[in-house]
Amino acid sequence: MPYLSAENLVKRYGKVLAVDHVSFSVERGEMLGLLGPSGCGKTTTLRIIAGLTVPDEGRVLVEGEDITNAPPEKRGMGMVFQNYALWPHMTVYDNVAFPLRARGMPADEVQRRVKEALEIVRLYELKDRYPHQLSGGQQQRVALARALAVQPRVILLDEPLSNLDAKLREEMRFELKELQRKLGVTAVYVTHDQAEALALSDRIAVMKDGRIVQIGTPREIYEEPANAFVADFIGKINFLEGRIEEFLGEGYVLVRVGDGLYVKAYTKRVHEKAPVIVGVRPGYIELRGTRPEKVDESRVNVFEGVVVRKTYLGDVYDYRVRVSEGVTLRVEARENYDVGSKLYLVVPADRTLVIDKKT
Ligand code: ADP
Ligand code: MG
Repeated sequence: MPYLSAENLVKRYGKVLAVDHVSFSVERGEMLGLLGPSGCGKTTTLRIIAGLTVPDEGRVLVEGEDITNAPPEKRGMGMVFQNYALWPHMTVYDNVAFPLRARGMPADEVQRRVKEALEIVRLYELKDRYPHQLSGGQQQRVALARALAVQPRVILLDEPLSNLDAKLREEMRFELKELQRKLGVTAVYVTHDQAEALALSDRIAVMKDGRIVQIGTPREIYEEPANAFVADFIGKINFLEGRIEEFLGEGYVLVRVGDGLYVKAYTKRVHEKAPVIVGVRPGYIELRGTRPEKVDESRVNVFEGVVVRKTYLGDVYDYRVRVSEGVTLRVEARENYDVGSKLYLVVPADRTLVIDKKT
């Protein structure tokens, strides 16, 4: 039995369908990432699970028990918000202790738990400071300690790292994952940041316009996106519109994507000569200065192209390479080529995504 389930959650705000029949389940100790663009209903979904928002329809279950109408404090859930929501007039210690005292917990138990939670986030030394005397990352860790101190069955995190600068965000991402794993706490992690979702989640639920469009492991979401929206949202990608012209066997198809331009691609899903979109991630395309000689002709596409734009990104160059009238591919590569260079692009067929246009 899943530990936490959301069943057909619906929430309307006037004409806005904020959450549109959302269902998912989370196993004990699992971290589910809820990923989607701003306004797609992530926070509303999380608030329904926390008991802070009442759904119009649907149920929330923990270990099979219906808690849809239970008050937030009876749910055994901890919540961490984007803005930390620390009490500014309370010390670090009191911020963590407050929810425990509010529950009428005996003083020695409060003391034990606050110490333990602050040690977990490595802030016990700073227990007498006030929030304004802490860095953003430290404040975020206090918020986390406060949520952990109640020893929640489920921890709900709403973009908890988005106020931090990029470097700290990456470090905290790793720490948070380690902590969640170590404590074995079941978690739902809301984010609009695909890298964060990929790094932290055991599984990801991708949301769009109030609905879940795909649930899967990070690898499944990245390598087998259910549709163009997911493929685009989860990473950089080139889209080539075309139509399957031929089945080459072993799952390979020949797709016509332009005048005289064909792409060999791999698909498990599409079995008819249908209009499709071929997706190719910029990092999977290889650039060569000379025509490659020994390529496995059955699997590899080789195209001629001209560099029309180049951007230095530090670790790689971001190129736009025009391969035919109307078809320009984005390529990320370490090699340095000038704008105007004539190049050969090698696109491994088994690194392409074939997306059914109907989905
Ligand atoms: P996300 O967290 O993914 O950015 P939200 O769940 O906050 O999305 O919002 C989903 C939609 O519901 C948005 O269109 C938002 O404007 C609307 N919404 C959220 N909360 C309220 C509210 N309290 N009153 C009215 N509209 C709301
Ligand atoms: Mg939100």
